[in-house]
Amino acid sequence: MNYHKFDVVIVGSGGAGLMSAMQLAHNSSIAVVSKLYPTRSHTGAAQGGVAAALGNQEEDHWKWHMYDTVKGGDYLTDQDAGAILAQEAIEAVYDLEHWGLPFNRTPDGKIDQRRFGGHTHHFGEGPVRRSCYAADRTGHMILQTMYQQSVKNQVRFFNEYMMLDLLINEGQAVGVVAIDLRDGQLHVFHAKTVVLATGGYGRAWRITSNALACTGDGMAVAYRRGIPLEDMEMYQFHPTGLYKVGILLSEAARGEGAYLLNSEGERFCIRYAPTMKELAPRDMVSRFINQEIAEGRGIDGKDFVYLSVAHLGKEKIDEKLPDITDFARNYLGVEPYYEPVPIQPTAHYAMGGIPTNVEGQVVIDEKNTPLPGLYAAGEVACVSVHGANRLGTNSLVDLIVFGRRAGKHIASKWLPEADFGQLPSDPEQRAREQVESLMGRTEGETQDAIRQELRDVMMDKVSVVRDEQGLSEARAKLVELKDRYSNVRLMDHSRTFNTELMEVIELGNLLDCAEATIAGAEARKESRGAHYRPDYQQRDDVNFLQHTLAYQSARAGEPELRYKPVVITEFEPKERKY
Ligand SMILES: Cc1cc2nc3c(=O)[nH]c(=O)nc-3n(C[C@H](O)[C@H](O)[C@H](O)COP(=O)(O)OP(=O)(O)OC[C@H]3O[C@@H](n4cnc5c(N)ncnc54)[C@H](O)[C@@H]3O)c2cc1C
Repeated sequence: MNYHKFDVVIVGSGGAGLMSAMQLAHNSSIAVVSKLYPTRSHTGAAQGGVAAALGNQEEDHWKWHMYDTVKGGDYLTDQDAGAILAQEAIEAVYDLEHWGLPFNRTPDGKIDQRRFGGHTHHFGEGPVRRSCYAADRTGHMILQTMYQQSVKNQVRFFNEYMMLDLLINEGQAVGVVAIDLRDGQLHVFHAKTVVLATGGYGRAWRITSNALACTGDGMAVAYRRGIPLEDMEMYQFHPTGLYKVGILLSEAARGEGAYLLNSEGERFCIRYAPTMKELAPRDMVSRFINQEIAEGRGIDGKDFVYLSVAHLGKEKIDEKLPDITDFARNYLGVEPYYEPVPIQPTAHYAMGGIPTNVEGQVVIDEKNTPLPGLYAAGEVACVSVHGANRLGTNSLVDLIVFGRRAGKHIASKWLPEADFGQLPSDPEQRAREQVESLMGRTEGETQDAIRQELRDVMMDKVSVVRDEQGLSEARAKLVELKDRYSNVRLMDHSRTFNTELMEVIELGNLLDCAEATIAGAEARKESRGAHYRPDYQQRDDVNFLQHTLAYQSARAGEPELRYKPVVITEFEPKERKY
């Protein structure tokens, strides 16, 4: 057995994983296990910025940021977490600045800030400049800055190691099992603490902004080990993905003044959201687009509308939005200096995930009982700070605030008390069986059709709009796909860099994440945030102001669902107007 022993094993080297590592680097042994080379993590694709009420451009207050987060989340946000997010965002952004992150600057040398959807001053009076940014490559800068600091602080990296299993023994997390992608060997990481920071699962949809690696591995592995997944039905579609390709055109464009046009050349957002217009939250703008298309005002009668940046002028486009305008040129052959860019909503962000408390500890039931030794942070986790809809630039804040809190809690509270738990006997068993059954099978279908059909059914039935009939069809399809998956066959049987093996395991993870998503959506008979049901158009606070917890059951497609209350401290649920 390839055996490693560390105080802390962090799975994932995106913004959340590295931020946790930064808190621990000085006084404990830590390993970061990542299926990608660290700087290829999806955090590096984040464009628009990171929100913090610094007030560098105009008056701002963390309370307003908290309010916006709660209201943006359609009141499903846990408000204790929302308060921490908004308050600690400020320190966390200064941490990044002090580690050398090259933010854009104001003329007097402060961090520059720009507008983003749903961020307002004075509790909703109008847009505010709250997003700190480095052109349209903020995530890239965050990742490079923290990776360089982690290397400096002697963090040990295991790159291109893919976690297959989480080890829990006698009620404590005791490590993970990973496969070294270079040679196909299994490795056991024995630890006092495991931090899951494995990101989201946008690849379950046909049109997505997410990188190939965003396959919900951490969620699925935890789910299969009896840990619930929270609010998985709350999946965000970003309004402006490149038509047919899904690649993101950041909200930063609209923050800088870009607007959306329908086939009649009308700025239709003004009709739906007179105050915030194009800067209403994403769930709403995605629905506006959907509505325009449904009523025949898509461009040329098709399923897209236009994003226009041309009026911003060449200079501003080059200075503030260089990368995303390049995407339009390279992928659609459109020149944004003069032409409008075809866009459609794209699967973007998981508000749900592995439930945690505000210290990043994974909690496993309605009473928020922590599972000792297990933490989660970033998109894989559900604190729940984004509720039913995340505001733009609030994910990077989530990574740095709750990644930081998890790391600090481990260092100050958990490690001083904790011992290494016993590994279970034969710790590799489940991972070995998973790999060997795939490697050994010579009959059966290959992964391609299963993957495509999953992505199609999620896109067609479980996207911006979902209803009873579509969801029940999606569940039936999922059960069929899971059954077919249990006989999936590889064409490549080598042990060296077997990317087909990796993809097939990822596909299994996507199927599990989709299962929890569909079940949660079917049971939530209301419309709230990203979860819009034409058959239940109203938000129903009497019955559904609560978080869904989905536990995997023996029956495919039918996880056990439980519910836990939302934490409300000061903002009583109201109707959302923008
Ligand atoms: C195109 C795009 C633009 C965005 N722009 C913004 C923005 O401007 N502002 C904002 O706030 N948010 C933005 N977001 C959202 C935000 O970037 C993500 O939610 C966030 O970066 C997720 O970070 P993370 O650390 O949780 O995970 P990731 O950065 O996705 O990292 C996941 C890590 O886990 C590892 N991993 C995964 N599975 C395994 C496994 N089985 N074994 C080992 N390692 C594993 C990967 O190697 C990787 O290192 C954007 C997202 C996208 C897709």
